[in-house]
Amino acid sequence: MGKFLCTPGPVPVPDMVAAAAARPLMSHREPDFGSLLGRLQNRLRDLLHVDGPVLLFPGSGTGALEGMLGGMLRPGMKVLSVSCGAFGDRFRDIALRMGGDVVSVDVPWGSSVSPERVREALQENGDVRLVLLTHNETSTGVTNPIWRIVRAMPEPRPLVLVDAVSSLGCMPCSPETWGVDGLASSSQKGLLTPPGVALVWLSPKAWKAVEETPSRSVFFDLRAHRTFLDKVEPQNPYTPPVTLFYALDAALAFLGEYGHARWFAARRRFARTFAEGVRALGCTLLVAEEARRSWGVTALRVPGMSKRLQKTLRDLGVEVAEGQGRLKEDLIRFAHYGDLGWPEIALYLGSLYAALRECGADPKTGALEAAYAAWNKEGA
Ligand SMILES: *Cc1c(COP(=O)(O)O)cnc(C)c1O
Repeated sequence: MGKFLCTPGPVPVPDMVAAAAARPLMSHREPDFGSLLGRLQNRLRDLLHVDGPVLLFPGSGTGALEGMLGGMLRPGMKVLSVSCGAFGDRFRDIALRMGGDVVSVDVPWGSSVSPERVREALQENGDVRLVLLTHNETSTGVTNPIWRIVRAMPEPRPLVLVDAVSSLGCMPCSPETWGVDGLASSSQKGLLTPPGVALVWLSPKAWKAVEETPSRSVFFDLRAHRTFLDKVEPQNPYTPPVTLFYALDAALAFLGEYGHARWFAARRRFARTFAEGVRALGCTLLVAEEARRSWGVTALRVPGMSKRLQKTLRDLGVEVAEGQGRLKEDLIRFAHYGDLGWPEIALYLGSLYAALRECGADPKTGALEAAYAAWNKEGA
């Protein structure tokens, strides 16, 4: 029996990505590694539509957030933390532990962040230096309209730092165009690579802040990372996860060859089709507003039965995530980051139907028909 990994990280990786990671190691001080790192820079700049360096270091998404924030947060600095879920809360926790003077804006879980709310909070707190936002809140399946939020901010804007861990690679991310100053992500979600690589991009304004802030971390010293990247043969200051860099290179080549816009459209088509099918089964989606639903992860309300449903799906060979934090027992979350199409829609909906039945729920029939109509509509 097959096993299907449908969790929001790690995600299944394409065969050639896994094969790339199996290639023999090289030294991270030899010229070939410089070529690899240079190529990764170009591919990531292309994906992000940015100039300037994209730092790559060992770590998960949390490591990327901590590295980015640590580069410019000084104890006592005023930080506006906007959270609509578990990962917004984590970003806030990092700022608090670093001694930030944190002002919190909390949005109900399942809703997106309103640009007006953020503008008001900034008008009331004129001394905010950093704003923390989450692009795709993986715990609820919400995608925030980063560009609108930034555009609504009063000028001069503080530095805007974005957690794009679960959006990069699966939906458009253009931090420079959006007026964002820092973006952090990692390899194991939309970038279709095994876990272990953290990445950070910063705007010139953010780099200036980094230069004015003495680094208290050796490992996350962003200036050291930049100095090494700027060499004629780019390098890492410390030993990088070389084989994961091979894998990331293969994954980015795949996304580039597919065409980024075409790839994002395929992810959107899958997400919207799946959402229609889920609704037709009689389930409720946590995120009511379609335009704010993630293209990478879908959360379903299953009050009080997440554990049982997760276990039942696992027994069928389908691994999904339950909720997080306060919604732990009330949600299950299906991720759909990979190269998935109609056969996987049928797989997801069919297994959900069976699991609901086995848990004593009464799903409606006709979900496949509803999904098929949505599939054709979204593909038109
Ligand atoms: C996965 C994720 C993270 C980081 O989680 P790690 O387990 O540290 O990789 C952070 N933010 C968001 C939005 C995420 O989805």
